[in-house]
Amino acid sequence: MIIDTGIILKPIGYVRSPLASLDDYLPPGRPAWIDIRPEYHEALERIGENSHLWVLLWFHKSDRRLLKTVPRRFNPDIPEYGVFGLRSPNRPNPIALTLVRLEVVQGNSLRVIGLDAVDGTPVVDIKSYYDQDIVFSPQTPYIRAHDEAMRRNHFYKLALNHHQEACPELLLAVRMIMIADHYMGHINRPDLLVSVQGPPCLADTIQGLSRARLANPARFAFTASDRLPASIWTDRDRVLKITALQDLDDDGYLTLSDDDLFDVEYTSA
Ligand SMILES: [Zn+2]
Repeated sequence: MIIDTGIILKPIGYVRSPLASLDDYLPPGRPAWIDIRPEYHEALERIGENSHLWVLLWFHKSDRRLLKTVPRRFNPDIPEYGVFGLRSPNRPNPIALTLVRLEVVQGNSLRVIGLDAVDGTPVVDIKSYYDQDIVFSPQTPYIRAHDEAMRRNHFYKLALNHHQEACPELLLAVRMIMIADHYMGHINRPDLLVSVQGPPCLADTIQGLSRARLANPARFAFTASDRLPASIWTDRDRVLKITALQDLDDDGYLTLSDDDLFDVEYTSA
């Protein structure tokens, strides 16, 4: 890889993944591998002490001429963004930054979760992820996927990242978030308040997805309760209450309709 300013990057390894092309999709929670070249073996010393890693990739199939784009895969109906304000793979230097969870180190291979890159993608660097890298409630462009399954997968992925286990309450939280997103819009908005009653796993997942803090600003409230789990979403002139009518398993998560699963009350002033 030779760049015209004279910078020379040598891949430290390559992605090994079931993803064969850019059109494929790796379901959340499925592992991929990073195979490090043998000459860099020593650079892996004690890497297993990290649960998470930043991986920098070279997206070799990208269009490097592109400066503005619409994230068409998510939603073709939104305005253009400059590529430096997005994670678009197409950009002058197609370096991708991905956060992965390290599962296991086997020789020169790292098995990781969350690596969404095609098989054979060159890896440029790996760095540890530190606690101080966290911004719990950042402001980000809201690019709402136009396709329902895509939206659900997006929220599921975020939920799993935050809550770290795919428990039934996480599934319930994702389905609730889908409804909240439909009625209330961007669930990370600073003026949207969220109150959860039910089990702690539901509250934790909803908090992680909505980025609602308990204070500064106070957007989040939680009451542990054995009653039917519910989340209540409020802004200046609207209230949305979503009450779960039954428990949820993997099957129900994909097949049950909102009407079967929830009682939804929406009032707008
Ligand atoms: Zn849980």
